[in-house]
Amino acid sequence: MKRIGIMGGTFNPIHNVHLIMAQTALNQFQLDHILFMPAKNPPHKKQEEIIQEAHRIRMIQLAIDGNERFELSDMECRRDGKTYTSDTLLQLKKENPNTLFYFIIGGDSLMQLEEWHKPQIIFENCHLIAARRGQITRKEFRKKMESYEEKYKAEISALDMENIHISSERIRSHIKKKEPFAYYCPDAVTKYILYHGLYGCVKEKKEELSMPEIHSILEGISRPHRFLHMIGVQYISSALAMTHGVIVKQAELAGILHDCAKYLTIDEQRKLCGEYAIELTGTEKENPCLIHGKLGAEIAKSKFGVSDEEVLSAIRYHITGRPNMTSLEKIIFIADYIEPGRKERYQPHLLGSIRHMAFVNLDTALLMCLENILSFLSGSQEAVDSNTEETYQFYKNQSFSRNQEDI
Ligand code: FE
Ligand code: FE
Repeated sequence: MKRIGIMGGTFNPIHNVHLIMAQTALNQFQLDHILFMPAKNPPHKKQEEIIQEAHRIRMIQLAIDGNERFELSDMECRRDGKTYTSDTLLQLKKENPNTLFYFIIGGDSLMQLEEWHKPQIIFENCHLIAARRGQITRKEFRKKMESYEEKYKAEISALDMENIHISSERIRSHIKKKEPFAYYCPDAVTKYILYHGLYGCVKEKKEELSMPEIHSILEGISRPHRFLHMIGVQYISSALAMTHGVIVKQAELAGILHDCAKYLTIDEQRKLCGEYAIELTGTEKENPCLIHGKLGAEIAKSKFGVSDEEVLSAIRYHITGRPNMTSLEKIIFIADYIEPGRKERYQPHLLGSIRHMAFVNLDTALLMCLENILSFLSGSQEAVDSNTEETYQFYKNQSFSRNQEDI
């Protein structure tokens, strides 16, 4: 039998005690996995204090990233109407017949559990693990557990962990009072809150940020592999800028920020395009992976304070290219393709030859990247953006006329 722990709650925001509770339960009850299951629209909490699900989900992802036994489940967020734990447990049991479910809750929730929807169903379908938290005394906690055991034949155990006074409510209150809250949440979550100005905190300033500040924010909001890719593009862009006489600072900035919209889901990217009044072409609507260039330029401007139009344009065209690109645009396009983390992917040009050519001739290296991209797209179902096609034709013709001149 599999043993799965469920951490339910609003996670508004997720904090270190949630993570300690989950890890302690995992160890103490020999659980296989913990599901972090944020609730949508919980019926027993004040609605106005709860921020959008997308933010709460993103913070959970950041908090649990790197722990392979912690998983996010958006099952409750996806369900229409009000979400009840009793429904969730019934659905989980039905979908996973050979699994024991352990529902992990804080002492405050334990005290009110009888007020939840159909408590009998909850007690029947899981083993409860309760952590004494907040102001609840040991005696009150024990008494409540015994009353559930007696009344509902509940299977219920106490989690053996310190009563640490951290709660989401307390964090929100610190933020409201403009007090520091950095050590209550994982670092990435704190940065996420500051970056998005959640819970009424002062938003990150909009004047151009320093490189360490940009790194710190991107590291906080991005998955590790994406952050490494951005760093790779930054360094290769700056090396190419040194080789080809482009301003290094511009290349570094465009390189690190080129994928700054990619931490968002496709739905979030589409929504933000609406907010920034970015018009999407038919191909972009069909293939939404193309959106993050245009959107990234707007985010670089509004959230990272970038005002240099050349940098913004290099971010905007890094996916598709465009005819008659500036050297900076070519550098970001090529660096995105050849950074050290990239693996051999497409034909006909080997990655090693493009890497070599990038430091010899930007136009030839660009053409090689485009030939590989187009040959890949011709064999896939994905639509080719007209900019990519036009860029290819432009540089193909240019290279043809250059060759003719040589003859
Ligand atoms: Fe990209
Ligand atoms: Fe990229």
